[in-house]
Amino acid sequence: MIKKNLFRLSWHFWRRSQCRNYCSTADAHVGIVGSGPAAFYTAQQLLKGCQNLKVDIYEQLPVPFGLVRYGVAPDHPEVKNVINTFSKVVNNDRCSFVGNVSVGKDVSLAQLKEAYTAVVLAYGANSERCLNIQGENLPNVISARNFVGWYNGLPENQNLELNLDVEDVAIVGHGNVALDIARILLTPLELLKKTDITEKAIKALSSSKVQRVHLIGRRGPLQVAFTIKEFREMTRLPKSRPVLDPDDFKHLADYLEDLPRPRRRLTELLYNTAVKPLEKDQKMWADATRTWHLHFLRSPVEILSEGLSIKGLRLVKNKLEGPIKNNPKAVSTHETIDLSCGMILTSIGYKGVKIDPDLPFDHNKGVVANENGRVIGVPGLYCTGWVSRGPLGVILNTMTDGIDTGKLILKDLKDNRLEVNKPGKDVIIKKLKEAGVQTVSFDDWKKIDSAEILKGESAGKPREKMVDISEMLNLVTKETS
Ligand code: FAD
Repeated sequence: MIKKNLFRLSWHFWRRSQCRNYCSTADAHVGIVGSGPAAFYTAQQLLKGCQNLKVDIYEQLPVPFGLVRYGVAPDHPEVKNVINTFSKVVNNDRCSFVGNVSVGKDVSLAQLKEAYTAVVLAYGANSERCLNIQGENLPNVISARNFVGWYNGLPENQNLELNLDVEDVAIVGHGNVALDIARILLTPLELLKKTDITEKAIKALSSSKVQRVHLIGRRGPLQVAFTIKEFREMTRLPKSRPVLDPDDFKHLADYLEDLPRPRRRLTELLYNTAVKPLEKDQKMWADATRTWHLHFLRSPVEILSEGLSIKGLRLVKNKLEGPIKNNPKAVSTHETIDLSCGMILTSIGYKGVKIDPDLPFDHNKGVVANENGRVIGVPGLYCTGWVSRGPLGVILNTMTDGIDTGKLILKDLKDNRLEVNKPGKDVIIKKLKEAGVQTVSFDDWKKIDSAEILKGESAGKPREKMVDISEMLNLVTKETS
């Protein structure tokens, strides 16, 4: 037993010494742009792997956590628990949060490169893909990104104009974000009121007339991008009933056996929901007052309107070309049908943007041009998370990105590929101060956090988010002075 423990202890110290060896001779200082999951997991890996390395995390908003705060649905609080891990990372003495600093605007990439041993771009996907069809700019045609930002309190989306005085809503997309939006539109208000959804969204949803939500996908049931947990949650939504056309599932049973397990389980659930629902489910759906519909093999081609008022969505029927189990293509049959609706939400993907003129960027993919996380042609510059590989996957995938990027930088340090002993945030904060930019520290964020939690308490919510940047900055200034 003693022998075993001794072995464990020496193994532990050997591992620690190996980690320290990455950069034991000089101080390394890494700047990270963005404060979502990719940033925090990169920082965690770096701090763990090297004892004399410091990390500064720059965020354009006064508040941290990216899409964990502004993307993850309010009725999924358990997903937001990662914030506890992220807070531990930034509470490390060697880590700082510098909020309210937009890189590319308040400070350039060149200035960051000058100040840091390495700079990591982890600024996510801040834009969205368009349908590129007639009528897309009409009122009440809204991107998923803006709608999600609106109900989650993202400051830039608080003046979003939307009209919920409509019975039918079309959501273009068959991913988890599309299901999030459908759920928010259909969940009984008394349940939503207990979440951190904004007061403003609750008010708007309380007068919503939405009865039917149509989710439109260009391909078939075998190609849906949502996951089983999210689909099952939809089937159990109180007072709502799924409407699926059994014809869409006719031949699906033939393919089930050969599918990989996660896809097979999801397809079975889709099939059972459409073709032979359980008795208990049917009972549950009996008192539904609202419905949600999955439409397959349809692509939007035109938004139908009278003046500025949306009347419907023209869809073209598609067929699949290529092996059905191996990413087949949706091809138009040119036959169209019209779906009546008064609101259209487009959920066809987020997209990264180029934040600095000096940044190599792949505009087609909407990602920083990179090779496995190294920005092409710029030594010392890295990228990770959604801005490096596109807006796909969940926090777990982004965690892997962050860990890999952290390891890559530690390896480059060990191989002496990076310049050490750089000044880090002191020089940047001095410049920002001179330019009149008010920065927000992690302690400042804690004040905002406490104020939000306090305000939420009286309404029986986990928090009431502040949605106005000047209000956040005023609070921080008031409490500091
Ligand atoms: P982000 O989380 O987007 O973080 C990027 C950060 O960079 C942001 O804080 C942004 O403000 C900041 N930034 C941008 N530009 C600049 C700049 N110029 N200067 C400084 N800072 C900047 N995953 C799950 O596991 N479970 C879920 O339930 C779930 N729900 C989701 C719901 C929605 C609507 C969306 C869109 C995604 C969801 N995800 C979910 C996926 C998850 O949110 C992503 O995997 C993850 O957030 C990506 O992390 P990131 O750090 O790359 O980007």
